[in-house]
Amino acid sequence: MNEYDSNRIYDSVKKIGFDKTENYEDANCYLLNTCHIRDKAKEKIYHEIGRVKKTFRLKRKPLVIVAGCVAQAENQEMLKREPYIDLVIGPQSYHKINNTILNYIEEKKKIEETEFDTISKFEYLSKIKNNSKKISSFLTIQEGCDKFCHFCVVPYTRGPEYSRPFNQIIDEVKYLVANGVKEIILLGQNVNAYNNENYRLSDLILEIEKYPEIERVRYTTSHPKDMTDDLIEIYKYSKKIMPLVHLPVQSGSNKILDLMNRKHTINEYLEIFYKLKEINSKIEFSSDFIIGYPGEEEKDFESTYQFIKKIKFINSYSFIFSPRPGTIAADLKLIEKKISMERLEKIQNQLFKNQINMNKSLENTTINVLGENLTKDKKQVFGRSEYMTPVIFDGKEENIGKILPVKIIKSNRSTLFGKLIINSNKKVA
Ligand code: SF4
Repeated sequence: MNEYDSNRIYDSVKKIGFDKTENYEDANCYLLNTCHIRDKAKEKIYHEIGRVKKTFRLKRKPLVIVAGCVAQAENQEMLKREPYIDLVIGPQSYHKINNTILNYIEEKKKIEETEFDTISKFEYLSKIKNNSKKISSFLTIQEGCDKFCHFCVVPYTRGPEYSRPFNQIIDEVKYLVANGVKEIILLGQNVNAYNNENYRLSDLILEIEKYPEIERVRYTTSHPKDMTDDLIEIYKYSKKIMPLVHLPVQSGSNKILDLMNRKHTINEYLEIFYKLKEINSKIEFSSDFIIGYPGEEEKDFESTYQFIKKIKFINSYSFIFSPRPGTIAADLKLIEKKISMERLEKIQNQLFKNQINMNKSLENTTINVLGENLTKDKKQVFGRSEYMTPVIFDGKEENIGKILPVKIIKSNRSTLFGKLIINSNKKVA
C-alpha cells in the first residue's frame, strides 16, 4: 500500500512543480513514506534522516517530510525529537500535502497533519490522474480496519474501515487501462471487507474484468471472516481472477487465534479452503504467520506447523512476534527468543519446501506468464506466473504486457526459468 501511496503522493506534488530525481544529493525535498508494521521502524527513520543530514552538511537544507504510518503514530513527537524534520503527514491526510508544502515554503511553519480524513483524501486523489504505467499496478479500494487484532497497529495508524465509492474506483481503472496496465492488484488492509452501497469486492472484480485490456485481477490482503460466498463463487465465473488466494491465518492453533483476537477459527479457515478447492483444485493459498506469539506453547506451534503442511501454503510471510507500542499484545510476556527463532526456522523450512515442490512440479510444463519488464541486462524478460512467482525467460521488449506461453526449464525456491514458446498465439488452458 505504501508503494501505491507514494505514487499517488507523487501524482499530487507534481502539480506544484516537484519532479523525481534519481540523484540523492540533488534533491531539494525528501519524503520518507514509512511503515510501522515491523519493529524498529521509528529508529530506522531517525537513522535515515541522519544520513540526509550528513549528505547536506555543507549544502542548503532540503525540505524533509515524514509520511506514512510512523508519522501517524509519532506525530508531534517527531518534530520535537528531530528538528531537521519539517513536516509530518499521516496516511489519511495526503490530500493536504500540496497546501502543507506551499504553506511551509511561504511561512516556514512546521506542522503535523494526522487527522483521519479518508473520504476527503480519496475525493481529492480521484481528481488527479493515476500515472502508474507499471504492467502490474496497485489500486487501493479500501483502507483501515475495525478488527483490532491484539498485535496490530493498523486500526490506530490507518483508522477505521473505509471503502471507496465503486464509480471512483472504476474511473481509476480507466486511467490505468489508458496507461497500458494489464494487471490490477486491488488493495486494502481488509480488502474483502470492501462494501460501498452494497457493492462488494466480487462486484468490483467482475466489473474490472470487463475491460479487455486487463488480463489479470488480484486482491490483497483478506481476512477469513470476510471471505463471503459471493467472493468464493466468483472463482467459478471470473476469467481473470488469479488462482492464488492470499489469506492470512497467523497461527494454526485456535487458542492462539483467540488470544490474538483474530475472530476466526481453524475450522472456518479450512471451510474456505475446501470450498475454493472444490471450485478449482488448482487454487493455491499463501498466508502470513506470526511465530512466538505470547502464550504459544509447543503444541500450538506444532498445530501451525501441521497446518502449513496440510494446506501446502506457498509464497507466504512469516515473522517472529514483534510487540507494537499501543497494542494489547505489547504488554504481554514474550516467549524466549531462542525458542521463537527455532520455531521460525522450522516453519520457514517447511514453507520453502512447499515452494520448491510447487516450482519443481512446473518444470517441463508450459505456463502462462505476464511479461512485466526487461531484466537489467535487457536480454531477458521478467514476468510472473498466475501464482505470482517470478519467471525469467529469453525475450524482447515486445513481450512486455502480454500473456505468453513459457516452458519452464528449471527452477529454484523463488524463481522459475523458462523458454518462450514461439509461434503460438494461444494461451495455455
Ligand atoms: S485484520 Fe489485519 S489489519 Fe486488521 S487488525 Fe487484524 S491484522 Fe491488523
